[in-house]
Amino acid sequence: MKVGILGGGQLAMMMIQSSIEDNIEFIVVDPSDNPPASKYVECIKSEFDDIRVLDKLSQECDVVTIDFENVPFSSLKYLESKVDVHPNSKAVEICQDRLKEKELFKECGIPVTRYNKIDSIDSLDETKELFSNGAILKSRFFGYDGKNQVDLNASNFKTAFEACGGDKLIIEEKVNFIKELSLIGVRDKKGVSAFYPLVENKHINGILHTSIAPYDDDKLQKKAQAYHNILTDKMNYVGVLVIEFFLDSANKLIANEMAPRVHNSGHWTIEGANVSQFKAHIKSVIGEEISDIKVDKFVAMMNIISSMPNLTMLDMSNQIQIYDYGKTERKNRKLGHITIIEKDKDKLLNRVKMLEKKFTT
Ligand code: AMP
Repeated sequence: MKVGILGGGQLAMMMIQSSIEDNIEFIVVDPSDNPPASKYVECIKSEFDDIRVLDKLSQECDVVTIDFENVPFSSLKYLESKVDVHPNSKAVEICQDRLKEKELFKECGIPVTRYNKIDSIDSLDETKELFSNGAILKSRFFGYDGKNQVDLNASNFKTAFEACGGDKLIIEEKVNFIKELSLIGVRDKKGVSAFYPLVENKHINGILHTSIAPYDDDKLQKKAQAYHNILTDKMNYVGVLVIEFFLDSANKLIANEMAPRVHNSGHWTIEGANVSQFKAHIKSVIGEEISDIKVDKFVAMMNIISSMPNLTMLDMSNQIQIYDYGKTERKNRKLGHITIIEKDKDKLLNRVKMLEKKFTT
């Protein structure tokens, strides 16, 4: 079995690592030199829309997937006429555009914050009054890790508009959330989904900093799974799909966005679940079923961002795992992550607190 992956970042790297023992072969395409996946397989250095490279993938692979949602969906469409592609181009097209994504959430009866499409400074001025309780202006496209989005206040409309690219924007009412949660689910080719427990996420400057799992709430878990099922049925989706939610003070889930791929808030599943999100994704796209997902411990994942800390200060004897993606240091770049495991949730939270202190002093 040979799987093609468009994108050779850390997500591709972890998908490959997860499947080495299953004798699955991979071909990875990435435009950069030595992306993280090149540690494990040879990567083809190419843009994602080079027809010759897409043809090679379709001829040599049984299925093609992605590690990055901003792959041109036209490339996926092209591949679809020749080879199995999961997730499909339509799902990826929706997830690339915050407006289409929100419209689909609404169509599926999934609560979202109030929003408006913004195409000009005039349309932003006109909506100003409607969003007087706090709003965020975001680019509809290429927004991740808090990029291309600005908190709006009365004085920064023009600069915010320009900072977000000045076109194809969306204004969103600011949600006064008490927590951010995500649901990672995987749907197989027969349309059966398996789910991980909800994860609680903490973001700093729009970038995921810490994830803690499981977030135990049966009612919310069922609700989130029901939303996930509606979306994946509608999109005829195969693979891992992640929905990020806000939880408001009335304990209501409000969908923020979704990712058509394995997700940073699911890295803990490598150590914390019987099958990781990476393995589950690969199994589903090659046509295997996902058996029950089991999580019987408390796990935290902390991202290493911008610079690698001195890791010798960590007590390695104590249920901790460190990942270094081998990337060069750059402001706000995800360079690696740390997973911490405990049987007891309070103990885990204490260790996370101590680690946060070490990393920020
Ligand atoms: P996003 O790129 O949409 O995932 O946004 C990154 C982070 O910014 C989120 O995880 C939230 O912490 C914050 N954020 C984004 N949109 C909103 C919103 N409408 N209301 C409140 N916080 C938000």
